[in-house]
Amino acid sequence: MSNRFLRRASVHDIVQKLSAKAVLEHGLIEEGDRILIAVSGGKDSTVLAWVLSALRPVLKRRYELAAVHISSDFCACCKQSVLKDRLAQWDIPFTDLFVPIIGRLKEGRSMNCYWCSTQRRSELLNFAVENQYNKIALGHHLDDILETFFMNLMAKGEFSTMPLFLAYRNYPVSLIRPLGFVEEAQIIACADAKGILKAACTCPYGLNSERRRIRARLADFTDNSSAVKRRIFNAVEQLMPKIHPPL
Ligand code: SF4
Repeated sequence: MSNRFLRRASVHDIVQKLSAKAVLEHGLIEEGDRILIAVSGGKDSTVLAWVLSALRPVLKRRYELAAVHISSDFCACCKQSVLKDRLAQWDIPFTDLFVPIIGRLKEGRSMNCYWCSTQRRSELLNFAVENQYNKIALGHHLDDILETFFMNLMAKGEFSTMPLFLAYRNYPVSLIRPLGFVEEAQIIACADAKGILKAACTCPYGLNSERRRIRARLADFTDNSSAVKRRIFNAVEQLMPKIHPPL
């Protein structure tokens, strides 16, 4: 067995163990949950789908999985048939939802990431509620969470970020982020080992986003050190409540 194979095999284990740790420490999955995975066709959400499927026997609790992809009137970078076949291998049914995001813009308004993500999020919530899913799993990872922390600090002047668990007050649905302890580099290595297509997002509206600028700054001042990023994450994690009040 080659060293390369061993390295790849251990990446699976690491991603799986970190995800199980996040699930257990933050109470993300309970017996009987119906979990809807938001899939884009990119590496993060596809690895998320794989890990949630792989964790079923490990977590020793029964939960259902399904995946939804939101198509829009721009940015057709997802290879849906490949994604659907891959999800079927992991026993995860797939639905595609079309949302005319640009078509919903009021006259004179221009397209931006904020508009896009609020449209997607509200469609996702409506779909989950209509189909009795009680949790929505998102593919955000440790680097996303750190980037959001610094964006909020600089733009809003507040200590906040995306939590691993968020219960909505007005919907019978919670958001979970099981990859929150996993670094992007680990997800890339895992996707590579599993032969998951790393389709880069070619959306023309995201090319100059603030998130990209923060990502570059973060890489610079942490020297892309995994240990430094994890130390910052440990501090940021203390902002996230681990006890979730009932809805
Ligand atoms: S990068 Fe494109 S697809 Fe992503 S949130 Fe922004 S507008 Fe939407």
